[in-house]
Amino acid sequence: MRVAFRLTKYNRYSFIPIAWCASRLGASVVLCHSPEEVLSSGADVAFYSFMTPQAKEAYREAHFLSGKLLLVAGGPHPSALPREVLDAGFDAVCVGEFEPVARRLFSDMESGSVSGIYGLSAEGFPRYSMEPSSYTGPVELVRGCPFGCKFCQVSYLFGRRPRYRGLGEVLREAVVLRERGRRFIRFIAPNALSYMSPDGVRPNVPVLRGLFESLVELGFSQIFFGSFPSEVRPDSVTEEAASLMAEFCANRRVVVGAQSGSNERLLELGRGHTVEDVELAVATLNRHGFEVSLDFIFGFPGETQKELFETVSFMERMLSVYRVRVHAHAFIPLPGTPYWGVPPSPIPRWLNRLLHALERDGLLDGNWSQQEHFRRELCRGL
Ligand code: SF4
Repeated sequence: MRVAFRLTKYNRYSFIPIAWCASRLGASVVLCHSPEEVLSSGADVAFYSFMTPQAKEAYREAHFLSGKLLLVAGGPHPSALPREVLDAGFDAVCVGEFEPVARRLFSDMESGSVSGIYGLSAEGFPRYSMEPSSYTGPVELVRGCPFGCKFCQVSYLFGRRPRYRGLGEVLREAVVLRERGRRFIRFIAPNALSYMSPDGVRPNVPVLRGLFESLVELGFSQIFFGSFPSEVRPDSVTEEAASLMAEFCANRRVVVGAQSGSNERLLELGRGHTVEDVELAVATLNRHGFEVSLDFIFGFPGETQKELFETVSFMERMLSVYRVRVHAHAFIPLPGTPYWGVPPSPIPRWLNRLLHALERDGLLDGNWSQQEHFRRELCRGL
């Protein structure tokens, strides 16, 4: 069986587990960068994985390809709204994780009976396991998150119980990367410092040290940890963890999720940490030589002027006292989260101007402006 994966800049990491499963189940995988390429690839089935901002484009392509080959969708948006995705022209939708449904999906594709929703078994999530294949990318460490922040899909898609990929599996994948000549390694996790943590927050420093030492022994000269495509929670940053990262990691910047500078707002979001925790994390990381990229989100539902002023004043203080860069987002309601269907607050003109000014000064980056545009469109349809 020949499988086409429609690759975009937004799904290049979700492609890895799908490609691994497909190749282990005997399918050949071809990467396509447009619907026309999908069509000319000679594939029997096309896989789409997308998030909410990309849903409209995926539906347009499904309309174009429908009836010409099988169309299977997965990822955050299809997992939350599978019926909408089927109505848009896809033949099947995989809800949640791909590995538990891969065998049944492929066997149904072989027999020509694929259709409908492929979801979790009654026993719930199995502990996931992926064997390395010819497709590699950042190495996944953790799935699931105990916090269930109201704006984020991670806990609602992957569950609140963090599942850690065994050290043996992680190192097996690292060996494959080295065999292919890679000397650097990156990781994916909702909170990189939570790997093998007993409570999902406190870093398990002995395990992290073991991981880093093994990677050095394997010949990796650059370990990127706590930077894109993963980040760390502020309350996971301890003196010991920061010192360990300084000893082993090549990245000089760490991404920390602050999200707001208002304790009231953090409480409402269910973040489980305070503004003071964020400052402590930034100070600790700076002390150990790391610059910090601080994530902020603007325009949460019901966000008040007072909360916005607090966030801006906190952000400006961080920028003036510490080595910090702001990574700004405009809040988008995501399906499957408690905020789905709840209208965002507008980003006032004064804040818009300020964010643009910080951007011009090189102190701020992020897609907040495009997100602001997208959410206006999305909310018209809510
Ligand atoms: S801590 Fe991070 S990954 Fe977990 S739910 Fe909150 S935003 Fe999502």
